[in-house]
Amino acid sequence: MTGAGTGRKKAKGWMVMAALLGFLSKAPRADAAGLPVSDHCDGSRFFNPWHRESKTLLDVLKWQWTRDSRQWPEHRPEIRPVSVPERVGPGEAVFTFIGHATFLIQLPGLTLLTDPHWSQRASPLSWLGPRRVHAPAVDFELLPPIDYVLISHNHYDHLDLPTLKQLHARHKPRFLVPWGNGSLLSGAGIDNVTELDWWQEVRVDSGTELIFAPSQHWSSRSLFDRNKSLWGSYMIRSKNKNLYFAGDSGYGPHFAQIKERLGPAQVALLPIGAYEPRWFMGEHHMNPDDAVKAHLDLKAERTLAMHFGCFQLTDEAIDRPLHDLKIALEKYQVDPFSFDAAAPGASLRFAW
Ligand code: ZN
Ligand code: ZN
Repeated sequence: MTGAGTGRKKAKGWMVMAALLGFLSKAPRADAAGLPVSDHCDGSRFFNPWHRESKTLLDVLKWQWTRDSRQWPEHRPEIRPVSVPERVGPGEAVFTFIGHATFLIQLPGLTLLTDPHWSQRASPLSWLGPRRVHAPAVDFELLPPIDYVLISHNHYDHLDLPTLKQLHARHKPRFLVPWGNGSLLSGAGIDNVTELDWWQEVRVDSGTELIFAPSQHWSSRSLFDRNKSLWGSYMIRSKNKNLYFAGDSGYGPHFAQIKERLGPAQVALLPIGAYEPRWFMGEHHMNPDDAVKAHLDLKAERTLAMHFGCFQLTDEAIDRPLHDLKIALEKYQVDPFSFDAAAPGASLRFAW
């Protein structure tokens, strides 16, 4: 039984529009950008090398035609803004879940934001598209000084240009973006941008590196840009400890590969929402069962769940990820303490 998930609703704005536009824009164009050819790029578009996309425009239409979308509440009043320290002391790290894929990561001498999103909607339009059901758990005005912003990919629920412009104006952080997104930010007047290909790293100081790693996903913001920019995840390696931020991803062999190459994660931030129906979403979005497998592949000591309960992008009920996560943790005999699905506003403190 999933409580709030008994109603039904049709047609949910942006995800549908993005999927349709994305498939329409699959045909190669004469002005294809000269992207770096690699095992995940053919020179004009990126792809997941271990899993070629199988869905077609017909599948998008089939999803829409057969859609059985659960009704979410308009608002979650139980989530209230919290305050955070300006900086953390030596030997400690604080991770605050702000909502969706936005985490405030405070390490000794270094403060980062992942996929920062403070807008009302995850959409190209301010008046249409998925609307947040809770306010960001930290007021934008009360953020501590931000040093780095990590962007996983260009979907509107992860790359929110109005928020990035505000961060640029107020904090002047360095923005790390997947290859192909630099011009989007520079066109919005944002400098201090570094574009990264998979496995490239940025050295912050002698003890800290930010490494861009694979994920199994796709990209698109408009009619003619499907997979013209890359997607990915990040490993933050600091003081010989690893913090992994997964962005958006389907389940694939890359989690084990990342663990092999970069070592196990002390803390992993993994998505557990936006996954129904499985036949359509499974390639690009993990469900909680997949997320627990990823947690095990990464050999994560602690995982903090994200990407649930904020924007309705897909068909499952708002409380279904938590329900399914409980089942998956029992199935794989994972201690619930090591896979935490805290509500936005939770701050977790670790020895670092
Ligand atoms: Zn996405
Ligand atoms: Zn997403």
